[in-house]
Amino acid sequence: MAGIYIHIPFCKQACTYCNFHFSTGLQRKDSLVQALIKEIHEPNLFIDYSEAIETIYFGGGTPSLLSNDQIEEILNALSENFKIQPDAEISFEANPDDINPDKLASWKNIGINRLSVGIQSFDPEELQWMNRAHTANEALACLQDIQAAGFTNYSIDLIYGSPLLRDEQLIENCRILFQQQVPHISCYALTVEPKTALSHLILAHKTEDIDTHKQADQFEILLTQMERNGYEQYEISNFCLPGFRSKHNSSYWLGKPYWGFGPAAHSFDGNQERRWNVANNARYIQSLEQHIIPFEAEQLTGVQQMNEYIMIRLRTIEGLSIPVFTEKFGKDPSAELLKNTARYVKEGLLKWENQQISLTAKGKFLGDGIASGLFF
Ligand code: SF4
Repeated sequence: MAGIYIHIPFCKQACTYCNFHFSTGLQRKDSLVQALIKEIHEPNLFIDYSEAIETIYFGGGTPSLLSNDQIEEILNALSENFKIQPDAEISFEANPDDINPDKLASWKNIGINRLSVGIQSFDPEELQWMNRAHTANEALACLQDIQAAGFTNYSIDLIYGSPLLRDEQLIENCRILFQQQVPHISCYALTVEPKTALSHLILAHKTEDIDTHKQADQFEILLTQMERNGYEQYEISNFCLPGFRSKHNSSYWLGKPYWGFGPAAHSFDGNQERRWNVANNARYIQSLEQHIIPFEAEQLTGVQQMNEYIMIRLRTIEGLSIPVFTEKFGKDPSAELLKNTARYVKEGLLKWENQQISLTAKGKFLGDGIASGLFF
């Protein structure tokens, strides 16, 4: 079983905090989609075409900038080259300002069965501060449109910990989502990435810096709100009602293979090789014109594989299984890992249960730091 990721590197405007690969110049959109389709058709020794595809994920950038014909062309190219399971999860990222009843009906017809919507907040001032392209009213309206169109499986992204976000507004953001029975919510702490507009604004003292204590407090608010309203936190940043885990993201966390298409898209063979395409639209298009996939690759060393496994598994609710770790990496590393977890268990940040190591409620906000502390 494997997954496919399609990267659509265009956005209407740049959100202040974003460091993903995208361009706001849409003039290359058509030629990029044609290049992407070429990449899908290009024979690729890295790909195991015999694997059944259980998930397809359109991410970006902003996939909802694609026309229906373009989405259909991409899906047709995938069907011609891969064994896509009839019940495959086909997720599509969309922004509220692109969502309307006609588009939703077309997406559904084409076969998209899961939406991931970048709402981030329902506060007009905060949306403006983030330079999001949508308004708070559009955010509210799109929830109703999605439900009216019959999409039962969808996810909303929320951002917490921005200098503007008051605790009351965070609770209000959650309340709106709970009231609408939104089945899946991804919550990300605002981070300041280098070379983003946000980092420049902070350096120029034009906006307040991130307060990590406030972020930790808001993360706790989220955990309480989600738990009270029946949402399972199945990964540090992901919450869902029963039965609505994202299959695509879960397969990343299980270490399954995935193949990425489009500029900056990453691929993983499920074992030790990782590849990523050039993060440059013009070079990607030019290269595919010559039938060359422009990528770089790395072979993960044994130590990198162990560290990655620790990092990914600790983020999940199930945590890291000691028997699985032993089987994958051997008895000695497993014994060392157990020894190293002891201090975190003592501090109440990790727990051992049924041969699983997982984060406690107190450890969740520090998850990535704890994982790095366990690295080999
Ligand atoms: S819409 Fe998404 S990908 Fe585009 S700039 Fe904003 S956060 Fe980044």
